[in-house]
Amino acid sequence: MKEDKNRVLVVGGGPVGMVTALALAMKGVPVTVFERFETLLADPRAATTHPATLELLARLGMVDQMREHGLVCPTFQFWDRESGTMVAEFDHALLKDETEFPYVIQCEQFKTAQIAYRKLQRIDCAEVFFQHEVVDVRQESDGAKVEVLLPGGAKKWFSGRFVVGADGGRSVVRKSIGIPFDGFTWPECFVVLTTPFDFQKVRPYSYRNYFADPHEWCNCFKVAAEGPPGLWRTVFPGHTGLPEETLISDTAVQERLKRFFQTDADYPVVHRNVYKVHQRVAQTFYQGHVVLAGDAAHVNNPIGGVGLNSGLQDAVNLADKLVDICLHQGDHRLLDLYNLQRMTATKEYVQAQTIQNKKRLEESDPATRQKNLDQLRATAGDRVRAKEFVMRTSMLTAQRRIASIGL
Ligand SMILES: Cc1cc2nc3c(=O)[nH]c(=O)nc-3n(C[C@H](O)[C@H](O)[C@H](O)COP(=O)(O)OP(=O)(O)OC[C@H]3O[C@@H](n4cnc5c(N)ncnc54)[C@H](O)[C@@H]3O)c2cc1C
Repeated sequence: MKEDKNRVLVVGGGPVGMVTALALAMKGVPVTVFERFETLLADPRAATTHPATLELLARLGMVDQMREHGLVCPTFQFWDRESGTMVAEFDHALLKDETEFPYVIQCEQFKTAQIAYRKLQRIDCAEVFFQHEVVDVRQESDGAKVEVLLPGGAKKWFSGRFVVGADGGRSVVRKSIGIPFDGFTWPECFVVLTTPFDFQKVRPYSYRNYFADPHEWCNCFKVAAEGPPGLWRTVFPGHTGLPEETLISDTAVQERLKRFFQTDADYPVVHRNVYKVHQRVAQTFYQGHVVLAGDAAHVNNPIGGVGLNSGLQDAVNLADKLVDICLHQGDHRLLDLYNLQRMTATKEYVQAQTIQNKKRLEESDPATRQKNLDQLRATAGDRVRAKEFVMRTSMLTAQRRIASIGL
């Protein structure tokens, strides 16, 4: 690693770490990324990239490639599984006067990380070390340092002006500096099943569909994968108390999919996984010279597809502040502003919205359930309310609100 008093050390080469590093390096801040694995992970998680995030990634020149490797998706739908009817469809075209991106792009998160990584490789002041696992973090008087487990098994300390913890929900950075991660864990886990079966052959589904059901809600969305015809991902609640192997056994998987989307033949399933899901927010997003971003700072359930989006919004917001501090004598208090802006977005929008999304889909009281569905139907049928709704789901409302926050 080349010595530089302004170097920022980014822990974690996931999408948030890579985008933070890219946003810093493009402005000339020397940056080093430490990733514990030997390559970028390709596990099937986030895909939906909302307009508010696309606006930020466009500044980094990433959107054309995301469009090329992803799917442009202007609409999303809510269905009532019990009656088998579509309750509401929302179209991002309502936002055409608000944003350059009146659609989401379904781009798998490893592709987003990959696009940022390829760009980073072409920038002299950036370096990415794979198989470098950070095991400890300490504050220093004018910076911070990380202890790294090197590929051969030896350990070494690296110092920088700032350390960014973008190392996911179990963040070693957050734990090393003792920031509490307040919140709760949902009792049920989430089951994710991926299939090449084309659900649009069954019904006129959009690429993003949410199914309300008092017994078993579902999200079903399409990703581009390695090219046409693409893959569909379904997310279901896993029943509390059942072991993981039972939840994703061949029999359970087929029963689950057929109960929801009836077919005679078995579904081909190319990926199956079970996740524990949490709603947690770090008590502060920075301390001294150590800053948290992405899942290291906040985690939420994936209904609505906003978790990674908020992490990518942290990344660009934070990079703007660190560029000012490192290169333009900006006040260290800019990190208070980062904390205030991103904490507000996290608590007021991301946490509130994702908890509400889950409750809406799983509501079991018949009267409340009917009221929720009627409300959605009425919102979709009223242009002004529908636009307000999509401004919120697309994260533009939150983005604008926090842009107006100063110290
Ligand atoms: C089923 C599912 C579906 C989802 N769908 C969506 C969606 O549609 N839209 C959305 O916005 N969000 C979604 N999410 C959430 C999204 O996946 C996460 O918010 C996202 O992965 C966070 O990115 P990150 O870079 O902060 O963390 P991660 O993706 O967890 O990356 C952290 C990186 O840090 C590395 N690392 C960890 N510890 C260390 C260490 N000590 N040293 C060095 N490296 C380390 C890891 O190897 C990893 O590469 C979904 C989540 C799940 C589970």
